[in-house]
Amino acid sequence: MREGINKKLIADEMCGKLARWMRIIGVDTLYSKEIGLNSDEEIISYAEKTGRTIITRDKKLYFSAKKKNVRAIIISGNNLAKNISQILRIINVKPVFDPYKSFCPCCNSKVKEISKEEVRGKVSPEILSSKEVFWICTGCGKIYWVGSHHERIKKYIEHLSELLNNDSSKGV
Ligand SMILES: [Zn+2]
Repeated sequence: MREGINKKLIADEMCGKLARWMRIIGVDTLYSKEIGLNSDEEIISYAEKTGRTIITRDKKLYFSAKKKNVRAIIISGNNLAKNISQILRIINVKPVFDPYKSFCPCCNSKVKEISKEEVRGKVSPEILSSKEVFWICTGCGKIYWVGSHHERIKKYIEHLSELLNNDSSKGV
């Protein structure tokens, strides 16, 4: 039914927040603005070349993509969690939070674990002494660690799972 849908995405300029969440969940998601694509035509031709699926709120972009046989998913409404779960359902990805699989929310590069020694001087001494595990983005160099944001992310992802489960039980 949904074979052929590419799990690598490109989000249009209205979907920046959504792109960041998809990255955290581990879905490779480019954001059109970040890679300098400014028009519908540019986004469509990029998706065509790379095989990525377009994520958009814009009907015009959606239908233009469809016309060219470029895969696109249209989302509507202002409920971000619902939008995310809708996309996850279509690309058949379960919402889990695994930092080893996440992409950097800022730049969509892979993150890798880094030793405490290597982060010395790059984070505050308080963070260095109170945290054990660190990750670094292989693209922008941003450093991540397990902190209060982890709990918030986990809660949000649990919420996404519930949304997905509820929808599938209704057969939607
Ligand atoms: Zn990065």
